[in-house]
Amino acid sequence: MELVGNCERCGRKVFCENGFLNGVNENNQLFCFPCSESSDDSREESNK
Ligand SMILES: [Zn+2]
Repeated sequence: MELVGNCERCGRKVFCENGFLNGVNENNQLFCFPCSESSDDSREESNK
């Protein structure tokens, strides 16, 4: 498991595991999965 960097939003470490990135790289910014899924952290109450 290789440390790729830290999540831009929460600072969590993002690893590359067996070729799978443990997060998302968007526009050269690294995010963990929870942060990448909630694209806007202040709008969790918005209806889907
Ligand atoms: Zn994060």
